[in-house]
Amino acid sequence: MNITDEHLAMLRAPRYGFGRNMNPCLDCHALMLRIAGDRLKAMNAAFIATGEVLGQRPMSQNKQSLYVVAKHSGYLPLVLRPLSARLLPETELEQRGLVDRTRLLDIEGRSRKRQMALAEHYGITRYPAPAGGCLLTDPMFSKRLRELFAHRPDASAREIELLKHGRHFRLPGGERVVVGRDQRDNLAIEHLRAEEEGDCFLKMDAFPGPSVLIPRGGGEEACRRAASLCVLYGDAPGGVPVRVQCRRGNQDGTISVTAADRQDAEAWIV
Ligand code: SF4
Repeated sequence: MNITDEHLAMLRAPRYGFGRNMNPCLDCHALMLRIAGDRLKAMNAAFIATGEVLGQRPMSQNKQSLYVVAKHSGYLPLVLRPLSARLLPETELEQRGLVDRTRLLDIEGRSRKRQMALAEHYGITRYPAPAGGCLLTDPMFSKRLRELFAHRPDASAREIELLKHGRHFRLPGGERVVVGRDQRDNLAIEHLRAEEEGDCFLKMDAFPGPSVLIPRGGGEEACRRAASLCVLYGDAPGGVPVRVQCRRGNQDGTISVTAADRQDAEAWIV
């Protein structure tokens, strides 16, 4: 399921705060449990089983956290952690005989050895890599996200998606500028631009260079600065004005600028 909207709403103010970076793991787990719990009836299911393991993460999967997460989800009596259940208090599900506690496991700690042995036993060969995968645990992404929320508490999913691509700048007027670093970034930026939201999109017409975006647009000065960044990170000759195509909303225009001062660019970088 795509739970971006609910996740984003939670991310703006997680009840239990963040981990080392912008990862609100307790609230995130609770949200997933809540969403799963809300579907139980429609799926004619009796309870929720998770892959959480006691002690696998020091903060979000200790005994207290596992309890807090299930309670916060609103489905405490219906949450089972089969991998660690024998190390946790007996659940109502076990007491009611819905599951047999003796067949549940007692895995604890950071090692994945027993889980991998289980996978082999059951012939499961394809599963996600144990580490990484969540951008909210990435320090660079977290720094950008924190900065974005400070300026735009209501930032949309698209604005957050843009944080994954290119270089990011905050201009003195408060506008954010995204500058592609390579073809992949450029394609992503072009794909994420939204004319209907007033984005300003810039590109040199006579030289190779980055795709540049001001999400939600900006005034004349912002567009000139963004154009100068476009020249700075492109292949135009230095010191002479260069034409940059600028599309604001659905209006096309041209700006003639020299490359931005490198010190300015460094001061604006996020
Ligand atoms: S690492 Fe990311 S996906 Fe996993 S619980 Fe934490 S915030 Fe959620």
